[in-house]
Amino acid sequence: MITLPKSLYGKLKKVLTPPFKITLITHVNPDGDAIGSMLGLYWFLLKKGCQVSMAVPNGFPQFLDWMEGADRILVFSKQQEKVKEELEKADMVFCLDFNEPGRLGGIRPILEELDATKILVDHHPDPDCFADHSFSVQEVSSTAELVYQLIEGLGDTELVDTVISECLFVGIMTDTGCFSFNSSLPRTFEIVGELLLRGIDKDRIYSLVYDNYSEDRMRLLGYILQQKMVILPEHRTAYISLARDELKKFKHEKGDTEGFVNYPFSVSNIRVSALFIEKEDHIKISFRSKGDFPINTFAQQFFNGGGHKNAAGGESYEELGDTVMKFENLIGQYSDEINRLP
Ligand code: 5GP
Ligand code: MN
Repeated sequence: MITLPKSLYGKLKKVLTPPFKITLITHVNPDGDAIGSMLGLYWFLLKKGCQVSMAVPNGFPQFLDWMEGADRILVFSKQQEKVKEELEKADMVFCLDFNEPGRLGGIRPILEELDATKILVDHHPDPDCFADHSFSVQEVSSTAELVYQLIEGLGDTELVDTVISECLFVGIMTDTGCFSFNSSLPRTFEIVGELLLRGIDKDRIYSLVYDNYSEDRMRLLGYILQQKMVILPEHRTAYISLARDELKKFKHEKGDTEGFVNYPFSVSNIRVSALFIEKEDHIKISFRSKGDFPINTFAQQFFNGGGHKNAAGGESYEELGDTVMKFENLIGQYSDEINRLP
């Protein structure tokens, strides 16, 4: 069991009493762990008698909107004043699943002006020191797992019900690619066991998340695999790039390209994968690696990004073609290192 830092434990024990006002926030383009950990913590804090609100910088993918409480999440890009109001009246703000305020988009300047106590709960490496208290553990599978450990640290596991369990399970399942990575610690499975004991229907949750795509998204996946995936065998690297007109052709919706970056790993010998998506004013990049090649350092050094050792992201303000060329050149410089990987 990971113990909560003493100062954080003391703070939470003292303040988690009604009518304490808490706002939960997470990163731009929130994924299953961002939303799952936020909703799990939300339902827990409500049970503790707190007044709780939740906000994300921009919308979240449709495959998460079935989750209990998802309709209560405020979206800053659509409800700026309301989000600002909730943050300004909060006594405490939980920052979930990100390690630097730059990941908050438009919420960042508001957070920086707040007097509220800021608590970071996160599993990314090298967190910025922007919070008053941090519960930041890199080794865990997900922020959702940490939320469970936070509840456990407070001695409140009896409050974890089916709804909370379902939310936390979504976070753990999605951040481990259905237990295919970031999930080598027995503790992760022990916690999943605890969640199963609360009566969650694991197969139903899997289906709601992964069997819930549009036909267009499946066709887009077929298109990228057949026509857009580029393999660089000499660098054990693959990448996919998608221009705006291609996305438009497949009626692209938020979240549709989620997971695409992992497909090239099904080709034997691939150790690095990248996905380039052309947005209105920049290129969003997802990076993945296997083993000891730290793709987060690569993302940070060359593409204004960061993340975990094997899963990171970044941005480019050059044209799509130039960005891809830059990537090809740079990855070539790491070829020896990548080729030494088992
Ligand atoms: P994804 O490729 O799924 O969007 O992101 C993978 C990981 O990289 C996530 O853990 C996410 O937090 C991190 N990440 C993605 N984009 C960025 C970015 O622009 N900056 C930083 N610092 N991290 C990112
Ligand atoms: Mn996460």
